[in-house]
Amino acid sequence: MTSPTPLIAGNWKMNGVAASLIEAQGVAAGLGETKARVAICPPATLVERAAAALKASPVLVGGQDCRAEASGAFTGDVAAEMLADAGARLVILGHSERRAGYGESDAVVAAKVEAALRAGLEPIVCVGETLEERKAEKALEVVTGQVRGSLPAALAGQAFSVAYEPVWAIGTGLTPTTAEIEEVHVAIRAALVELFGDHGKSAAILYGGSVKPSNAAEILHAREVGGALVGGASLKAEDFLGIIGAL
Ligand code: PEP
Repeated sequence: MTSPTPLIAGNWKMNGVAASLIEAQGVAAGLGETKARVAICPPATLVERAAAALKASPVLVGGQDCRAEASGAFTGDVAAEMLADAGARLVILGHSERRAGYGESDAVVAAKVEAALRAGLEPIVCVGETLEERKAEKALEVVTGQVRGSLPAALAGQAFSVAYEPVWAIGTGLTPTTAEIEEVHVAIRAALVELFGDHGKSAAILYGGSVKPSNAAEILHAREVGGALVGGASLKAEDFLGIIGAL
């Protein structure tokens, strides 16, 4: 079994208007030889325009969330099918800002993963412990529990990735030590193999949380780290390219 192809995905969160697509185009223009698959996940309003702007480039476009249902009376929500129709190829699910801010349980995330698969989108499923959980030495238990609860059996044989994002490292400038990252990634890999057998070895396990050009090389070369999910540093092409170039 060959190692998973690395994925470096930018999560723009609720940032960006049409003019911001210049940064996405800058990533496409500056992307040299890389072993990574590269994706940009802009707000839903920009997915279609980003997909059009990046059509001729290898940079993929993803959504940041989707509803589990395909259609219906869910004001303000976006279905996986709508993201796919707009040109998305991937979708971030279970981000801690959704788990904490919208009360998304593992079961809700698992249902969204099934929706993504139904629509032909590749899910990036986020997991991660809070600072309190880490201090209580529960990080491994929490994270592997989220992996088991958020990844439905339907992922067997499908392309997907898991992003380990310690909640306390997101947008804070703090990062775990390399040894801490490796410990969690190794535990996630074991849980994936337990769930999916050999197929569990083909999913990339991304690290996310305050990745920037200056720390990217060390993080990206850590054991079982198969790429990165990047928030703030994905908003500027130069920074995002610096991270991609560190692989
Ligand atoms: C994220 O929100 O997915 C993230 C990793 O954010 P940041 O890189 O800004 O910490």
